[in-house]
Amino acid sequence: MIYLGCHLSISDGFYKTAKVAFSIGANTFQYFTRNPRGGRAKEIDKEDVRRATDFMAEKGFGVLLGHASYTMNLCSNKEQTRQFAKDLLLDDMKRLKQLPESLYIFHPGSHVGQGVEKGIRFIIEALNEAIKVNPNQFILLEGMSGMGTEIGSRFEELKSIIQGVKENGNLGICLDTCHLYSAGYDVVKNLDGVLEEFDDVIGIERLKAIHVNDSKMPFDSHKDRHEIIGDGELGLDAIVNVVNHPKLKRLPFSLETPGGPEDHAKEIRKIRER
Ligand code: FE
Ligand code: FE
Ligand code: ZN
Repeated sequence: MIYLGCHLSISDGFYKTAKVAFSIGANTFQYFTRNPRGGRAKEIDKEDVRRATDFMAEKGFGVLLGHASYTMNLCSNKEQTRQFAKDLLLDDMKRLKQLPESLYIFHPGSHVGQGVEKGIRFIIEALNEAIKVNPNQFILLEGMSGMGTEIGSRFEELKSIIQGVKENGNLGICLDTCHLYSAGYDVVKNLDGVLEEFDDVIGIERLKAIHVNDSKMPFDSHKDRHEIIGDGELGLDAIVNVVNHPKLKRLPFSLETPGGPEDHAKEIRKIRER
């Protein structure tokens, strides 16, 4: 049983979203914990969460992925932006206690010229506070493409963040196939090698979720442009190898490819049928 789904909007609530997920052959999905571009969060409807949780249990869903807002840059060079990001993070930690069970995923952020080390220190500080607010919450750092001053495109950087956090038992990693490829990790020709390197640097047990995306941009381009599965530089075979890899197949996989649920239904079917 492979847990495979896609990113979905929860604007109609969790129950309706879970039903959409089921109707397109998904048994997990990713959602934004709040407006991805702004930061506003919807009020939580406890009855909706309860119905969704029951429905997903009945249909054998795996854990969900709750993705943080893109505006959350914990390592900005501006104090105000960092404070805003920290407020969002801490509020997400509180909210997640009331949402369906989800792994929380966030982008480490961009250091905007301050340097990787300083950026990493800011991220560690924020995570230490987040963990105090909700010690049981799994928090995953997403591996990035390395555009501009993005932190987290190298396994070593992700490792430094985890190691810097005091109570890091519930910290993990979400890898994104598009980001890996554009960051210079060749998951097409050398998936085993990439996973071995991850295991050597971070430890494979920290890997908790995978974003499954094809890439519009070539290998090592440091450009993050997702493509429909099979239409990009990775290709369907590479994606199927990831989803079926013995070291990965227990993890939740979520597509973040262009298009709506009807399009994702086709991609999910293509992957599952191989
Ligand atoms: Fe992401
Ligand atoms: Fe992603
Ligand atoms: Zn991306």
